[in-house]
Amino acid sequence: MMEMDIPLRRICTPVLGLLAAFLVGCVAAPATLPPVPTVDVQAASTHAAATVFAAASQTAQAALPTQTPSPFPTATPDPRRTPPPLPPAFTTNLLKPLDEPRAYLNDTCAYLRAKWDPNNAEPGTVLMPIMFHGIAKGEINPGTGGVYHDMTMDEFHRLMKDLKEQGFEAITMQQAADFLYKNAKIPKRSVLLIVDDRKFRQSFDDTFYEYYQAWGWKVVNSYITLDERPDLWQENAQLEAEGWVDHQAHGYVHNINITASSSEEYMRQELSKPFEMFERYFGKRPIAYIWPGGSFTPRAVQLAREYGYLLGFTINPRGPVLFNWVPQAEQSDPARPSYLPEVPAGDPLLTLPRYWSPDARNHIDTVRRIGAEAAMYAESVRAVEIEYYDIVCAPAHGALPVVGP
Ligand SMILES: [Zn+2]
Repeated sequence: MMEMDIPLRRICTPVLGLLAAFLVGCVAAPATLPPVPTVDVQAASTHAAATVFAAASQTAQAALPTQTPSPFPTATPDPRRTPPPLPPAFTTNLLKPLDEPRAYLNDTCAYLRAKWDPNNAEPGTVLMPIMFHGIAKGEINPGTGGVYHDMTMDEFHRLMKDLKEQGFEAITMQQAADFLYKNAKIPKRSVLLIVDDRKFRQSFDDTFYEYYQAWGWKVVNSYITLDERPDLWQENAQLEAEGWVDHQAHGYVHNINITASSSEEYMRQELSKPFEMFERYFGKRPIAYIWPGGSFTPRAVQLAREYGYLLGFTINPRGPVLFNWVPQAEQSDPARPSYLPEVPAGDPLLTLPRYWSPDARNHIDTVRRIGAEAAMYAESVRAVEIEYYDIVCAPAHGALPVVGP
């Protein structure tokens, strides 16, 4: 019901509300939203305004939490009221030029209700998925065992501490799904720690365990299911039972990526076998599929949806994700040829971006700023969106919940 891929159209329009005096944003809106017939297109001022917006957003951190939200208007739908045109969706110049935010919900009323329900995640809540591979006890030696996406133990601890100091909290895959589908409340800055490939428990004990003990941070392991060494499964089943390592699917054979030349049979095996194996050894069903090698095809994504996966992850570090907002590319970028464009697959929730652990620290501030910009923009369109909801949506969907947690 929610997997529709909704193209965003780029338009420039004055930002309403708090920022109206000095802001003009060039933003994208889901195509299903009603057209915005009356706005002035001010393309010439876009670049300067975007810069102002970016600069202003850096101070949003301090300003936003102290604001007390005013009560929502009570829903008294009046057929004589004309709904205001909906403002365009949030966008930002902090993404790379070819990476554009995509919406994935096509029911505007359900989206607005989830967005403005005070029991749900605050607007501007940002989720940063990070992909980990090896964490080396010694120095990384690229000539021998180490590979480019490994990190040292020192780098690992520095990343974890930076995340914590910058206000992030780790969430589970289920929390991520609830957030992305329903805007369920998660910490305002959340991180999803995803370790790829099979590991013995020692490697988790040596790395993530101390953060589970200290901060309650859980870790996701995208797990390859073909290997049936009994001790490997036993140790991972134990971690799963202890509740701090959340296994999700990472193929069956894994070592042969899914590509355009993969057979239907091979794709089905890679996607479906994890259910059987997880059931047998972990007593659970995976909800996420982490594409081996970051490689997927439109057909494979369709199959993943058919098998019931709720989320899927690439290796494309395009940015963080927000509720109904996933940065994706339409075309291959010559500067980053290894990142497959996701838009052709048409299912943002099954092709989510991930940062790479060795340089994730460099992006923490950008993720924070995107969250702050999104919160500011949401505040600026809040009154209009709630008025729209009140007129168009409340009769069928009910009034917005007023009382927060
Ligand atoms: Zn892998």
